[in-house]
Amino acid sequence: MDFQFTEEQEEVRRSIREFAESEIRPHVMEWDESQHFPHEILPKLASLGVMGVTFPGEYGGAGLGYIEYSIIVEELARIDGSVSLIVAAHNSLCAGHIFIAGSEEQKRKYLAPLARGEKLGCWSLTEPQAGSDAGGTRTTARLEGDSWVLSGSKTFTSNGSYADICVVMAVTDKTAHKHGISAFIIEKGTPGFRPGKKENKLGFRASDTAEVIFEDCRIPRENCLGEPGEGFVDSLRVLDRGRISIAALAVGMAQGAYEASLSYAKQRRQFGKRIAEFQAIQWKLADMSTEIDAARLLTLRAAQLADLNQRVTRAGAMAKLYAGEVAVRVASEAVQIHGGYGFIKDYPVEKFYRDVKLCTIGEGTSEIQRLVIAREILE
Ligand SMILES: Cc1cc2nc3c(=O)[nH]c(=O)nc-3n(C[C@H](O)[C@H](O)[C@H](O)COP(=O)(O)OP(=O)(O)OC[C@H]3O[C@@H](n4cnc5c(N)ncnc54)[C@H](O)[C@@H]3O)c2cc1C
Repeated sequence: MDFQFTEEQEEVRRSIREFAESEIRPHVMEWDESQHFPHEILPKLASLGVMGVTFPGEYGGAGLGYIEYSIIVEELARIDGSVSLIVAAHNSLCAGHIFIAGSEEQKRKYLAPLARGEKLGCWSLTEPQAGSDAGGTRTTARLEGDSWVLSGSKTFTSNGSYADICVVMAVTDKTAHKHGISAFIIEKGTPGFRPGKKENKLGFRASDTAEVIFEDCRIPRENCLGEPGEGFVDSLRVLDRGRISIAALAVGMAQGAYEASLSYAKQRRQFGKRIAEFQAIQWKLADMSTEIDAARLLTLRAAQLADLNQRVTRAGAMAKLYAGEVAVRVASEAVQIHGGYGFIKDYPVEKFYRDVKLCTIGEGTSEIQRLVIAREILE
């Protein structure tokens, strides 16, 4: 066992931190308030290899591992959860699904431009009536000659309004239940495919969360991704790994909120002392730092298992559950340490407080993570 990062991993952290500090931090509140989707930084992220972190060079990726990917997602989230989520949804979900289930031709045609950052991806599983119970999908796809024809709509798709490539799950055989849902690749501009309502959110306001709509949308037969009927089962594998990035995202936001609180506690004076001298504040900082370390270790353990190509269902769910709940606790204490100023938008903890809650909801709620962990333990 080795708790040291390699020199290369430290370099990844340094370069992403530098980028996030200089190119993202100055705009965070402006993007948040105007709900501006930061297109302009996507080419820069692509030049750093961030749009295809874990995919091999032959498919346009940076060829790095899940440890490096976790470091990248964490460092982006330390400054802005929204940018981090844009990257995570693109990498883990859309590109990740094509990587694990796609044919060689699909990988060359769709994964490579995604991984090079020439195209942006989204992944649509959730529907208004099928959230935690995603097996209850109602969007359908029927085979007509050499085409699949999709009808229905998806909700809460990250990057949904802007994506060039969408991976979507639809029912192809109602009688086969979870083995009757298939995955499809759809390109922007395909007739019958369009984004719908863009959600106005509590947090992650610079990330895009939108409806995507399919109205008799006809796509070539070869755009079925993976085996017909196995799209839902493949989605669960995609989510297993995706949860590692949501855990890293939670760790990053918790770290950002903690650092802001540490620095504030050393400066703010009350009763003639720096508030960091009060034991009540010291204990908060000690708990925050300890819990963030524990969450990071769980995340990196899951990332290492992914790098070793081992099953990550339990480790990923544990990391996501714990890190998400830690982020909520840490952001709440961060506001408390800032007192009234924590409630004001001039200080970064106000935004962390709003953003972190998503980590206990997206890619499976905390309740669903406990269900997954319990199932694994009892198996
Ligand atoms: C900002 C944002 C981005 C998102 N991005 C994407 C995306 O890119 N692609 C995508 O497909 N989806 C995305 N989602 C959807 C997200 O994954 C779902 O919101 C989530 O899985 C929960 O589904 P739901 O909202 O329908 O809640 P519900 O499933 O209706 O859950 C409501 C409550 O009931 C609880 N519950 C449900 N079932 C059980 C059970 N069996 N046992 C115990 N408790 C239960 C839940 O834990 C929750 O507390 C996103 C959501 C948000 C908010």
